Amino acid sequence: MLKLLQNEINRKKAMRPPIVDEELLRLQRTIKNAIKSKYDSSLKLYIVDSGSCGACELELQTLFNPFYNLSKQGVEVVYTPKEADIMLITGTLTENMYESVEQAYRELKKPKKVITIGDCPLMESPLRKTFSMTDIKRVSFSSVYHISGCPPEPRGIIKGLIKYIETV
Ligand code: SF4
Repeated sequence: MLKLLQNEINRKKAMRPPIVDEELLRLQRTIKNAIKSKYDSSLKLYIVDSGSCGACELELQTLFNPFYNLSKQGVEVVYTPKEADIMLITGTLTENMYESVEQAYRELKKPKKVITIGDCPLMESPLRKTFSMTDIKRVSFSSVYHISGCPPEPRGIIKGLIKYIETV
């Protein structure tokens, strides 16, 4: 009986949503204000997986859950590069994705901005020896900002975005 009760208490504890801490609240406020001043309250991201293991995308998706809640701070994912303020690229660039990345960059809204996410684009990840990989430097980006990690944590991505926005 006692064990059942303990199990129930543990189950309820596990179901509790995590508490948003001061650091996250501060990051949310900072990115919201930065977007407000530089992007008219709405930052549109176009995300391209150019050959990742999937973990960087998972971390990116996490940013839009009710805990990190970046949508509420003004960050939006769009599905065509024409609408995007920034193109985010994850993964090593594979031969198969080279044309698509080039084309997306051509269509990107001016002033074409690119942020690479994770260690793959720098060829520093475990995927760097993938047989189908090519060098992301083949794509003629005018400038690229990078957020490192394998994968970067959600807070690391938010901090990277804030740093980038502040340079705009
Ligand atoms: S950087 Fe690491 S986590 Fe991200 S796609 Fe590459 S291997 Fe996966």
